[in-house]
Amino acid sequence: MRKIYLIFFSICLIAIVFLLTNYVYKIKKINRNYDERYNTESLVALRKFPFPYRAALTICSDIDNTETLEEYIEIQKFLNTRNFTNMGKGLGLDIGNSFFFYEPPADAISYFQGGLDVADNFIRLIKAGYIDTMHSYGKKSDFTRKDAIVSLQELKHHNCKINVWVDHTKSSDNFGDDGTFGFGDHLGSKEYHADLTIAYGVKYAWLGKVTMITGQSVPINLKNFTEIYDSDHPIDSVINIGKEFAKHFVSILGSKKYAMRKDNDLVKITKLDDGQLIYEFIRFDNYWEGVGEGANSKGLAYAISNKTLNRLKEVRGYMIVYTHFGINSNCAKNICEETQDALRNLAKEFEKGNIYITTTSKLLRYYIIHKYLDWSYEDKGGRLRINIHKVKDPVFGSFVPSVQDLEGITFFVPHESKPIIYLGNKRIKHIRKNNADNTEKQSVTISKKEGTVR
Ligand SMILES: [Zn+2]
Repeated sequence: MRKIYLIFFSICLIAIVFLLTNYVYKIKKINRNYDERYNTESLVALRKFPFPYRAALTICSDIDNTETLEEYIEIQKFLNTRNFTNMGKGLGLDIGNSFFFYEPPADAISYFQGGLDVADNFIRLIKAGYIDTMHSYGKKSDFTRKDAIVSLQELKHHNCKINVWVDHTKSSDNFGDDGTFGFGDHLGSKEYHADLTIAYGVKYAWLGKVTMITGQSVPINLKNFTEIYDSDHPIDSVINIGKEFAKHFVSILGSKKYAMRKDNDLVKITKLDDGQLIYEFIRFDNYWEGVGEGANSKGLAYAISNKTLNRLKEVRGYMIVYTHFGINSNCAKNICEETQDALRNLAKEFEKGNIYITTTSKLLRYYIIHKYLDWSYEDKGGRLRINIHKVKDPVFGSFVPSVQDLEGITFFVPHESKPIIYLGNKRIKHIRKNNADNTEKQSVTISKKEGTVR
C-alpha cells in the first residue's frame, strides 16, 4: 500500500515539475518577445509611446443606460472640451464614446429609435472622432442581416468611419463564441453580418475579455498579479489575484478560452466563427468586487485611481479602461464626484506628459502601426535619414500609412543628429525634435502640426 502511495506521489511531483518548467520556459519566451518588440538598444530605435509619454490609456465606455441625449452630450462636453458644464470646467481630453443603432428606448438612446436629434448628434460626434465605437448594432429582438445593411448604408451615406466594435451583453448580433455570445459571425444565421461589417471598416473588436492586470503589452512577472491586492478589501482582492493568475496559467498551458491572457498583450489576432480574422482587444477593470463590477460611473474612480496610474507608468503599459458612463443613477451629477476628480487627475497626467490619453480607435491604430511598422535608417551624407516603407498588417494586408496614421510615432536618435524622415520618397515635413527623456535619449516625433502630437 505504501508503495502505491509513493508511486502516486512521485507521478504527481513529476507532473508538477513538468508543468512549472513548461510555464517558466514559455514565460521567458513571451518576455523575450516583448524585449525585442520594444528594444531601444540600437542607434536609431522606435520608442514605445509618443514622446514624452511613458504609458497610454483610453477609456472605452459602452452606451448602456444612457437615457437622454442631453446626458450623453454633457458627459462628452466635460470630457472633450474646456467649456463650462454642470460638472465644472471640461477636461479637454480626447476620450471617445460608443453608440447603438437599435436599443429599447427605455434602456438607452439609439440612432434609429432615439429621434432625429440623437441621429444628428451621433453623426456629428462620429465625424469629430469622439464616437469611435459601435456597441454592436444594439438589442433588436428580430435583428437580421438586413438591419446591419441599413445601418451601414446610413454610415456610408454620411461618410462616417467607425473601426471599433464592442459586443453588448446578450445582443444577438454579437461576435464571438464565449461570454458575449452572438450570431453576428455565424455564417448562415439570419443575424450574420461579419462580412459586411468588416468590409465596411471595423478592424478592432472587444469580445468580452476583461483583465485586472494594470498595464498591457508588458513583460509578465509576479508583481503584475500581486499588484491587484487592495488592503481595504483583502479577502476579495486575494481571490481576484487567484482567479487572474489561474486564467493566465491555464492559457499558458494551452487553454483556448483564456488565450487572450497568455502574454498580457493589448491586442490578439482572433479568428471569428466564419473564419475571418480581426484584432481582438482586452479591456481593464480591477474593481475589488470582481471583473466587470466596477464598469460604471462610480467604479471608474477606482479603475483610474492614483495607484493604478502610478503602476501603469511604472510598467510602461497600454490600457483600455472598461466603463459605462451612463450607469450613473447613484451619482448626483452626470459623472460621479469622485470620478470627476479621478478624471481631472488623469488629465493632469496627460498634461504633464506622463500618460498618453486618446480615443480607443486612435490608441489601437497607434498600437498596430507601431507594432507592424516597416522602417529603416541610413546615413545620407552625414545626415540621418529614417525611411518608412509600410505597415506590414498581418490581418488586413500591408499598406503605406498616411502622415496622419503616423502621428505620434517617435524614433530615438543619436545626440546632435539632425534626422529627416521619409515616407516612401516623400519627406515628412511635420516632425519635432525632442530633448532627452528619462532614458537620456533624444528623439524625433512625427506630428500633425509642429509642436503637437495629439
Ligand atoms: Zn452593453
